[in-house]
Amino acid sequence: MHSLDSFAQDKLDDLKRRQLYRSLSETLREDGIWVERDGRQLLSFSCNDYLNLTQHPSIKQAAVAAIEEYGAGSGASRLITGNHPLYAKLEARLAHLKSTDAACVFGSGYLTNTGVIPVLIGQDGLVLIDELSHACIYAGAQLSRGTVITFRHNDIDHVNELLERHRSQHRHALIVTDGVFSMDGDLAPLDELLSLGQRFDAWLMSDDAHGIGVVGGGRGSSFSANARIPVPLQMGTLSKAIGSYGGYLCASAPVVELMRNRARTLIYSTGLPPACVAAAIAALDLIEREPAYAALPVEKAKAFTKRAGLPPAQSPIVPIVIGDEEGAVAASRLLENEGYLVVAIRPPTVPPGTARLRLTFTAQHPDDKIENLADFVREKILG
Ligand SMILES: *Cc1c(COP(=O)(O)O)cnc(C)c1O
Repeated sequence: MHSLDSFAQDKLDDLKRRQLYRSLSETLREDGIWVERDGRQLLSFSCNDYLNLTQHPSIKQAAVAAIEEYGAGSGASRLITGNHPLYAKLEARLAHLKSTDAACVFGSGYLTNTGVIPVLIGQDGLVLIDELSHACIYAGAQLSRGTVITFRHNDIDHVNELLERHRSQHRHALIVTDGVFSMDGDLAPLDELLSLGQRFDAWLMSDDAHGIGVVGGGRGSSFSANARIPVPLQMGTLSKAIGSYGGYLCASAPVVELMRNRARTLIYSTGLPPACVAAAIAALDLIEREPAYAALPVEKAKAFTKRAGLPPAQSPIVPIVIGDEEGAVAASRLLENEGYLVVAIRPPTVPPGTARLRLTFTAQHPDDKIENLADFVREKILG
C-alpha cells in the first residue's frame, strides 16, 4: 500500500478501536424540526437551527431575491470586489442589535475566531481561554503565537490567579470564552470577567454562536442579565439561530477598521454569497420584530429539563452526560429507535470521560413531543 494510504488507514483503525470513528450520514432537512435519514423520519434535537429560520419562507425568499439581483457568489474577497451592497446593511444591523459602534462580517464563525485573535495578540501576548470553549477559539489562539493558558470552566478566581501570575510579563492580554457553552448550555459570567479584565487591562472576547437570536431577548449572552454588559469584542455566527452562514465581530469602530486591514481570514478569503447575507438580514428583522418567538427555544428547553428532572436549562442546549463513548452512542441509538434524533457527542469535542447526549430545542418543537421525550429520557436513560 502507498505510504499515504497506509498512514490514513492506520489512523482510522485507531479511531475505530477507541470508539471515536465518525462518519457522515446523509440527512434531509425539509422543515425546521423533522429530518430524514436512511428513509426514516426522525424528530431532530440535534440541529442548531434554534428558530427554524433555515426553512422560513420570508428568509428563503430574501436569499432567492439576492441571487437574482447579485448572483450566486461574491466573486472575490471583500477588499477586492466581493463587498456587495448587502454587507453594509448586515453590519449596521448587527452593530445595532449588539449596541456596538461597528461590526465586521467574516466567512464563518470559525474564520472569525481564527482571524480576530491573531490581530489582537502577537508573540508577546497572553490569551486566557475557558477550558470548555469552542475548538476555533483554541485554533485562533494558536495562530496568534502568544502564550495560551486555559482556565477552569467559569472559574473567576482561577482567572484572577492567572492574571496575577502572568499579566505583567505580556504586552497585551485577551480573555476569551463562549457566552453560551456549546456542549454544556450554561452561560459565562461575562460581567465578572469584564470587570476582572479591566483591573488587569485584559480585553474580553465572547463567542456568542449559541447566544445570538435566543438569549437576552435575541440580543445574545451579553444581554442575558437584563442589563447590557459592554463586552468590547463580541463574535458569533450567522449559521445557528440566524439560519444562514457566516460569522461576525461586533466591536468599536477602530477595532473593526483594524480587522478589515489585518484579519487574514477576511483579507485572503472570498466574500460570502449574497444569498447568505440577505438571509441573515431577514433573520435579524424577524428576531427584532418577534422577541417572543426568539424566547421559545429556551422556554422549551426549560420545560424539558423540568419534566426530565434535570437542572434547569439556561439556553436551548441541554447536555445529558453519559461518560463513556459506548454508553453515549447506545443511548443515542435507543432514542433513534423511538424516532428522536439526538446525536452522541464524544471526545475530542468534549473532555475525555464526558461523552454525552446533547439536545437542542427549537421554537417549533411540539410541546407534547417534548413531554414524551422527557419521560423517555427520565425512565430509560437517567433511570
Ligand atoms: C459553531 C460554533 C462556532 C463556529 O461557527 P461556524 O459559523 O459554524 O463556523 C464558533 N464558536 C462556537 C461556540 C460554536 O458553537
